[in-house]
Amino acid sequence: MPSVCCVPGCKSNYPPTTENVKVFKYPNEADLKDQWFRKIPREDFTPTARSVVYINHFKNDDIIKKDAITLPDGSTEFKALKRFKLKPKTIPCICLNLPSDLSDSHTNSLPLRKDSEM
Ligand SMILES: [Zn+2]
Repeated sequence: MPSVCCVPGCKSNYPPTTENVKVFKYPNEADLKDQWFRKIPREDFTPTARSVVYINHFKNDDIIKKDAITLPDGSTEFKALKRFKLKPKTIPCICLNLPSDLSDSHTNSLPLRKDSEM
């Protein structure tokens, strides 16, 4: 049984095949859950243990696709995760199929000045 994406208007519900669609469950933390709930407005809807949101509603940056493993010699090895994880405090952005790199690159363009070269 495929899980249903909670986002209204989302067309990616119910994949016809058993394609490996990545979903994320609602968080357990009440605080964060509340923020998810507000981000995904839906009438007559209460998130349940089965409520999920599809991976395409999250920013690429917020998804953990690899696990960093510290080896005995101190180096770090990255292992691809079968089940992706979300970073703590991640809220869905409801960006439906946006190219992941174009999401909000214009918002924080701080002027960087380096004119004090001696
Ligand atoms: Zn969706």
